[in-house]
Amino acid sequence: MSAHASPTTGKPIPVTLIPGDGIGPEITQATKQALAALGAPFIWDEQKAGVAALEEDGTPLPDTTLRSLERTRLALKAPLATPSGTGFRSVNVTLRQKFDLYANIRPARTLIPRDDLRRYDGLDIVLIRENIEGYYAARDYYLPQGDDPQGMALSAGYTTRAECERIVTHAFEYALAHGRKKVTLVHKANILKLMSGLFLETGRKVAARYEGRIAFDERIVDACAMQLCLNPSQFDVIVTTNLFGDILSDQISGLTGGLGLAPGANIGENMAIFEAVHGSAPDIAGQNKANPTALLLASALMLDHTGYNALATRLRHAITRTLQNGPRTGDLGGTATTDQFTAALIKELGNP
Ligand code: NAD
Repeated sequence: MSAHASPTTGKPIPVTLIPGDGIGPEITQATKQALAALGAPFIWDEQKAGVAALEEDGTPLPDTTLRSLERTRLALKAPLATPSGTGFRSVNVTLRQKFDLYANIRPARTLIPRDDLRRYDGLDIVLIRENIEGYYAARDYYLPQGDDPQGMALSAGYTTRAECERIVTHAFEYALAHGRKKVTLVHKANILKLMSGLFLETGRKVAARYEGRIAFDERIVDACAMQLCLNPSQFDVIVTTNLFGDILSDQISGLTGGLGLAPGANIGENMAIFEAVHGSAPDIAGQNKANPTALLLASALMLDHTGYNALATRLRHAITRTLQNGPRTGDLGGTATTDQFTAALIKELGNP
């Protein structure tokens, strides 16, 4: 149980709520309704960030949002849009670095039985991603090539031994706390000999401390991607660096039914931000088509984090029953709107 927990006192827990961009407000509304029906103990402090904040306040990360986060140390955040190539720096990355949210936990489980869209049954993989270093902390530069002043782009990412040790230890402690059997370290130390090599070398030393308690193996990232397609059930907990973790977690979400089902938690020593793995989905924004399940499952992770495990379990069971029996949104091959799915879930919450 974390420092935020108060189930014994039943005191309401203040949470910063960021509805975000694109489909963010729609899935946030659905999640708030479901959590109210569940009787979750959260009081929301709603704040802006991302493009929504830029348009209204002239900055993608207003001071009022930062002050709320500093006060609550706990947030539920819907996706924030980041322009590609140019424009402002990702607010997601800024928040992770500013608040030292070094561990990104992305669990993926089969919720819908195997069919034409979902090819695997019984998957249960947790990807743990280093969240503040690597190429996400890189400084980018242009260098001239001939008469082209921007003929070369240089990106200088970094990895520190201390951070490698902290994230791999986090993965092993997570495995112990959650009854997991194996941690697989994913790297590219054959090519990125120093940056990925330091992660591998440090990870092996951490793994030795858990010998006999948690099994350990290692994979090169490209082979891991292939093996995830061929035989994903061989994986239990995966720990990897920032960029590889981002890519592999989307791949894993595809194995279990897609981005609409994938939650994530950004965890630091004394702060946590819960979110969906997916982005702002501008192609379906404002159309009542978004699947709110990923943000709902993120809120279940937040219930676990605050010690409300029974409520988290009730919410997860109701989500699973709704997905298996009730209406599904378009990303899962159904025709339900966000509102119809949410109404079915709330009905299910009334039938524990
Ligand atoms: P995306 O995840 O927004 O969308 C990819 C595809 O998945 C789209 O076809 C979209 O319609 C679909 N999809 C995603 N979530 C869905 C849901 N809940 N229900 C139904 N369909 C869903 O990825 P993108 O289009 O590459 O990125 C859009 C924006 O989101 C970018 O600005 C990117 O920077 C941002 N982004 C933010 C986060 C975050 O806030 N954590 C994460 C990833 C991307």
